[in-house]
Amino acid sequence: MLRTGLIGRSILASRSPWLHEQEAAAQGIELAYELFDFTDREWDDSALGRLLDRLAAEGYAGVNITFPFKQAVIPLLDELADCARLVGAVNTVAMRDGRKIGYNTDKTGFETSLAEGLPGAALDRVLQLGAGGAGAAVANALLSAGTGTVMIADLDLARAENLAALLSGHFGPGRAVACRMDRLDTSVVDGIVNTTPMGMATNPAPAIAVDLIAPRHWVADIVYFPLETELLRAARLRGCRTLDGSGMVIGQAARAFEIFTERRADRHRMRASFSRH
Ligand code: NAD
Repeated sequence: MLRTGLIGRSILASRSPWLHEQEAAAQGIELAYELFDFTDREWDDSALGRLLDRLAAEGYAGVNITFPFKQAVIPLLDELADCARLVGAVNTVAMRDGRKIGYNTDKTGFETSLAEGLPGAALDRVLQLGAGGAGAAVANALLSAGTGTVMIADLDLARAENLAALLSGHFGPGRAVACRMDRLDTSVVDGIVNTTPMGMATNPAPAIAVDLIAPRHWVADIVYFPLETELLRAARLRGCRTLDGSGMVIGQAARAFEIFTERRADRHRMRASFSRH
């Protein structure tokens, strides 16, 4: 039996157990995916290191990591894969012979979703809303996918500036710039990506005034509950090409499954499982 799981806070509604267990069952692999919800179990954040050590010692194949631990987990690991070092965040930990190796599969998840969901999208300039953990992965994916310049806006301007500086350091000067939320200029961009939590069922209002969206823009959201956020709905009604957050969830889960099991995941089958849940 392969043992895996997800570590985070307020994660009891996660679809990850379903996605991983369905794919494992389809491949004839016995796999259990447990939720380690620090809020539900009333654990302090400081218990993260002990939990990881225990799971590694008990022979877990690995775990996914989510809010608020994607950065906090880094110093607790033995090794970081290039994808995690690049993004500065870990959402998947492989456990091998007691060693803990950190990966980031959010980046490739978004990259695959963009390539498959919006093929041929213009990428000269893209406006990204949000510079948090997921935003770091998405901005890296946009630049890896060939975006000329990513303009990053966040309510916390310093966060946007720090991310832009990190990205420009890696991808080249000017490839990422920070901009203020109250001075967004969408006339110069091809596409708009939301990586803020705005649009979630609990927070439905879009992070950007929808009259800044024009039919020539493509619009992507990484929020996936609901699948069609108010931002995407407004964009669709204007005739824009849109991309919802499901491709990124499925892509990150598929890659994590491959890291845990060392077997190929069938992304089409995982999409079908996602739709059934
Ligand atoms: P986070 O808290 O690390 O970052 C969110 C950022 O958004 C913060 O920097 C915050 O200042 C900024 N922000 C919040 N409201 C804003 C607003 N109105 N305008 C501008 N900036 C604003 O969160 P995160 O881990 O980056 O996750 C963000 C969202 O992405 C969550 O809703 C999560 O569900 C979603 N997500 C989706 C996937 C996927 O696979 N589709 C993966 C990871 C995260």
